Amino acid sequence: MDKIIVAIDGPAGTGKSTTAKILAKKLNVMYIDSGAMYRCITYLVLKNKIEVNDTKRIINLTENAKIEFKDESVFLNDEDVTNEIRTIEVTNKVSTVSKIKEVRKILVDKQREYAKENSVIMDGRDIGTVVFPDADFKFFLLCDLKTRAIRRQQDFNDLGQKISLDKIIMEIKKRDDIDTKRAESPLRKAKDAIEVDTTNMIIEEQVDFLFKKITNTEV
Ligand code: C5P
Repeated sequence: MDKIIVAIDGPAGTGKSTTAKILAKKLNVMYIDSGAMYRCITYLVLKNKIEVNDTKRIINLTENAKIEFKDESVFLNDEDVTNEIRTIEVTNKVSTVSKIKEVRKILVDKQREYAKENSVIMDGRDIGTVVFPDADFKFFLLCDLKTRAIRRQQDFNDLGQKISLDKIIMEIKKRDDIDTKRAESPLRKAKDAIEVDTTNMIIEEQVDFLFKKITNTEV
C-alpha cells in the first residue's frame, strides 16, 4: 500500500479513538491520537499549577514537551501518562488550553512531523480541515449525546472515577461548545469528509465501514 493519511474528526465520545486504533492495526499503519497531545499539555498545566491565562508559560512548556506514542501508551517527557491524561480534571480543562493559538501551532507541527515519512491515521477535531487538508480519506463521526455520555462514563469507570451521567452530559456539551465556537481551527466537518453516525453501530461495524471505504471494498 502507498503512503496514506486518514483523518478522523468529530465531537467528543463518538468513538474516534477506538475506531482509529483498531483500524490502524488492521491497515498496519501508525495511529496518532491528537487529542492526547492537547491532554498532555493540559496535564502539565494542572501539574505545574499554571493559570490558563498564563499563555507565555503554557507555550513554553508546549515547546519543550516530548510526546511519544508507544504501543497503546502515551509518554510525556518520558513519563507514562496514558491514564493521567484521561481524568475528569484534565478533561474539564483541555478545551480551554486547546483554544490557545500558539499551542495549536506547535502541536500541529508535531502532528505533521509524525506523518512525514509514515502512513498515519490521526483523530481529532481539525485533522481533515487544518492539519491534513489533503488527507487521502476523511471521516467525520457523529453520535447522539446520551450514547456518547454512556460510553464516556464507562471510560471514567475504568479509571476508577465514578461520575454521574448528568455531569458527563454537561461536560461533553460544554467541551463541544468550546471546540466548535473557538476562533482557531474550530471543530468542523471538512467538505469532503464522509459522515458516519455511530449511534447504532458497534465498534466492529464502525471499523468495518471505514476499512471498506479505505480499501475500496465497498459496503
Ligand atoms: O479527542 P479527545 O476527547 O481526547 O480531545 C480532547 C480535547 O482536545 C478536545 O475536546 C479538544 O478541545 C482538543 N482537541 C483539539 N484538536 C484536536 C484534538 C483534540 O482541539 N485535533
